[in-house]
Amino acid sequence: MVILKFGGTSVGIPAHFGTALERVAQAAPRDPVVVVSALSGVTNLLAEYARDPDARVRLSAALIDRHLAFTLDVGLSGESIRRELDAWRADHASCGARPGALTGEIRDRVLSHGERLSAAIFAAGLERAGLSARAVEAGEAGLVTDDRFGAAHPLPESAGLLRRGLASRPPVPVVTGFLGRTRDGRVTTLGRGGSDFSAAILGAALGAQEIQIWTDTSGMMSADPRLVPEARPVPRLSFAEASELATFGARVLHPKTLLPAIDRDIPVRVLNTTAPGEQGSLITAAATLAAESWRVKSIASKKGITAVTIASSRMLLAHGFLARVFEVFGRHHMIVDLVTTSEVSISVTIEDESRLEAALAELEGIGRVEVRRHLAVVAVVGEGAPQRIGLAGHVFTLLGGVGVGVEMISQGASRVNLSFVVREEDAEKTVRLLHRGLGLDVEPTVEARA
Ligand code: ADP
Ligand code: ASP
Ligand code: MG
Repeated sequence: MVILKFGGTSVGIPAHFGTALERVAQAAPRDPVVVVSALSGVTNLLAEYARDPDARVRLSAALIDRHLAFTLDVGLSGESIRRELDAWRADHASCGARPGALTGEIRDRVLSHGERLSAAIFAAGLERAGLSARAVEAGEAGLVTDDRFGAAHPLPESAGLLRRGLASRPPVPVVTGFLGRTRDGRVTTLGRGGSDFSAAILGAALGAQEIQIWTDTSGMMSADPRLVPEARPVPRLSFAEASELATFGARVLHPKTLLPAIDRDIPVRVLNTTAPGEQGSLITAAATLAAESWRVKSIASKKGITAVTIASSRMLLAHGFLARVFEVFGRHHMIVDLVTTSEVSISVTIEDESRLEAALAELEGIGRVEVRRHLAVVAVVGEGAPQRIGLAGHVFTLLGGVGVGVEMISQGASRVNLSFVVREEDAEKTVRLLHRGLGLDVEPTVEARA
């Protein structure tokens, strides 16, 4: 069997919707399971609905209009989403008038309507194209998660439950991405962009031959094409390379996507719904060196980063300093991206500051703490790249030449990633400069494509 996941731009634009249906029809002999995101823009709309009580009446009407207009645009009847719209209206009636922002479990239930509506439309589209299909809510199919609303993680039993829940095929299941359900049946979301992760969870549970991520770019590119228009598709990546890129800001894949694929050694293909004939990117366990100069395949960047430095003159000769620092981060569930140490200090970067305040109070008991905000991580990724003599020198010479200061460097910890921290306002300039300076805008050689 094969998983086909379609993102918001694939399911939310009428012209691409038809292409997406054709891709599933073509995959019919391979036992397809479809995963869909909400129509483009819909999750943002629902998040705004949750945040702003004054906008709820208007946004509810906009949500309904958008989906009715879309179904008509793609030649389906409003009847195909009647049940889902009724469910939305019921939730709107029960929580629309609540004061303040909707959070936690209620917010997740609000957000879930985007994927539920989209799955219903997609299943109706497949039916009209002559394929027997059914919309399935992931939680109902067996995707059971913990109860960390907004960032839920699947529980181990979900693999077996999903296998049983989706055993009878066809009809082709059109499963809601992004969603799960707690053991006691409350809907959860896996984090923004989480439909890619859903696709991989399903692929691993069902033993897929391949997980296809259909999006709006021609695969994983040498940089975000919105930042670097001359970015090129990267035909082959290892799991390690793609994971680093996803972790450090390549939004095309949710950072957790590759975990289930790695576990079960399932190839992931990133493909373009708007250009379905292109080869896209194939991500597998095998490490293939890019033959291009510097062996760099892609550059990613992530803004909104905060660096925390803990300095202690007592660190010298002190046992357990690092352990104490990480114990604090661990206890506060703070995810640390980059780490650098010196004789007397340790610096880490974090993305989510929501628990920083509480952690700081404890870190101050260990040493002097400095917090720097408005930073960005830039990751230069390619198998073997960090070990290549001269790469770091070349990168930092390029940056020095345009006056970009580097705040932290992490090299050598990973065999695929040279990453460093710059000021947020320098991030885009840095990616563009390195993309050109490392030769990524040049057409790769034939060997590099092999
Ligand atoms: P979808 O709705 O299909 O899930 P997303 O918007 O989540 O699509 O992800 C696709 C976007 O990711 C692209 O439009 C692009 O701007 C961005 N992106 C960032 N880095 C990369 C990269 N290295 N390769 C491809 N796309 C990237
Ligand atoms: N619709 C969700 C979001 O916008 C999930 C996804 O697109 O992957 O975050
Ligand atoms: Mg996405």
